[in-house]
Amino acid sequence: MPANSCELLVIGGGGAGMAAALAGADAGADVLVVEKSQKLGGTYAFSSGLVWVPANRSAREAGIEDSIDLARHHINNLNGGKSVPEVLEAYLQRGPETLDFLAEHGVPLDWIPRYPDYYAEQPGGLMEGRYLSSPVFDGARELPAEWRERAEFSPYYTDVPASWPEIQAWGGYGLISEWDWKLLEERKQRGVVGWGGATTGYMMAACLRTGRIRFQLGTKLLELDKDASGRVVGATVSIDGGGPEHIAARAGVVLAAGGYDHNPEMQRQFDPHPNATPFSNPSVDGSGIAAGMNAGGSFANIMGQLMSPVYVLPREDQAGNIVGNVAGREPSFPGSFVVNRAGRRFADDSFYRVLVSGMVRFDTKSCQFENLPCWMVFDEEWKATYRLGHVKPGEAPSWMPRAGNAAQLASKIGVDAAGLEETLRTFNAGAADGRDDEFGRGSMAWARNNGDRRIKPNPCVRPLSGTLYAVELKLGTMGTLSGLAVDEHARVLRADGSPIEGLYTCGQSMSAIVEGYWYNSGTSNGRALIFGGIGARHALGAGREVTA
Ligand SMILES: Cc1cc2nc3c(=O)[nH]c(=O)nc-3n(C[C@H](O)[C@H](O)[C@H](O)COP(=O)(O)OP(=O)(O)OC[C@H]3O[C@@H](n4cnc5c(N)ncnc54)[C@H](O)[C@@H]3O)c2cc1C
Repeated sequence: MPANSCELLVIGGGGAGMAAALAGADAGADVLVVEKSQKLGGTYAFSSGLVWVPANRSAREAGIEDSIDLARHHINNLNGGKSVPEVLEAYLQRGPETLDFLAEHGVPLDWIPRYPDYYAEQPGGLMEGRYLSSPVFDGARELPAEWRERAEFSPYYTDVPASWPEIQAWGGYGLISEWDWKLLEERKQRGVVGWGGATTGYMMAACLRTGRIRFQLGTKLLELDKDASGRVVGATVSIDGGGPEHIAARAGVVLAAGGYDHNPEMQRQFDPHPNATPFSNPSVDGSGIAAGMNAGGSFANIMGQLMSPVYVLPREDQAGNIVGNVAGREPSFPGSFVVNRAGRRFADDSFYRVLVSGMVRFDTKSCQFENLPCWMVFDEEWKATYRLGHVKPGEAPSWMPRAGNAAQLASKIGVDAAGLEETLRTFNAGAADGRDDEFGRGSMAWARNNGDRRIKPNPCVRPLSGTLYAVELKLGTMGTLSGLAVDEHARVLRADGSPIEGLYTCGQSMSAIVEGYWYNSGTSNGRALIFGGIGARHALGAGREVTA
């Protein structure tokens, strides 16, 4: 088979691309995956690796009761009417079988005990059973030697080669200092990884085992090629920065090139919020979505970026623009809260999505982002107990602002002193009883799961005392929610709703029209795995209709 021709062409070798490739190979096709970077895994490998799939077999076998009807009810109650019903249905119906298919190919995803939905308390929400993740991955054992260096792993989580069920068994994120660090260190020395990099590692090994999937690294999609009828029949690519070359795809092209998080111009143009600092794989630059739009694909704006508060800490041993971490869980730890420049809190800061909604609020009277910049304020005990990126419990580097009282800390970080003093007083009064009457810290099970269960009655709330510290929280992105419009077969749609024949998309190249305004971590990875498979099979005529 010449390198410039294949049956199924997959653009992008992240989670979505490898899911599409595996499904294509399973359907008997010869599959070519072109990947822009020199590694496989994409941002998926950077991720926490959580996948959210209702009514999955793994949880059912452990006795968890769930159903697709219950999940549909849950989502439709929370999505602001913005999910596309057929696409949501495809996600729900095809999710469980996608997991079974991956397991058959040696990509394990196991349910995570006691890990609640984001909105577990809402109708149809569950306290456990819908989150899954992979066991840790040992590349030295699972991958052929020549591929080991080509597996992407997270720059944030290589310190934590643990599985989520292990973390939950060790008491959850809030008990991070109590985890089995001896075991983790031993795994780290052997190059064992966890979370998203574990799943993409297993996927890579599975793809290689099929013998039907070729990976062409260092190959960037420039544009999609069409025939006279408008059908997508291949792609124009650049190999190692060289001149344009054509690749013919007899059955179709699956665009799995991620979002546009590393493209500030696309962020500025499309996103309904300030530009966010990308914490995703630098190779994800929007070129896939742009090629899809140039081929006639319609763009669906669902909230712009997958935002998270992030902190960027001084660290001499890290290069490039990755010098911090997403702060999805740290604000849930007790002994902390988040304030704006007025020294005032503005959100339930124990749940990062609510926090981020507050961070991007634009006051149309002052015409200012009223809550940017903002700071997480935490106390001595917090510092002694929890990790902040690479800063371990008990470490307090000299660059970290600190003071003996609120007014002094406020002056160090440029916050209104009277405001911060008043906030501390009000917060501490309720916190003594575990209450946060103003914003309800710890009122959601998801946040409590991130909290410190040794702190009672509320694992996210206790009064702050002693030396106070602060770290600025910035607006970051973990990927893109907006993207190309698709139908339930993962076909890219034109603005008039008609499908572009031969062109499919999945993962972060497709918009989050499964979720609408609702989001649950794990659905982004879920869209990658589920719609990767749906698109590949439909292109090869091996798909099936979804009926509600
Ligand atoms: C810190 C962090 C934590 C996260 N945690 C979670 C989580 O727990 N659960 C969850 O659901 N989501 C999470 N996410 C989001 C998650 O990473 C995405 O869901 C996931 O990456 C989507 O996979 P994908 O295959 O669509 O995109 P990617 O994994 O980004 O893959 C896209 C691939 O396409 C390649 N590419 C780009 N442009 C081109 C081109 N022009 N030509 C060829 N190749 C190209 C890229 O190099 C990349 O390899 C997290 C993200 C971050 C950053």
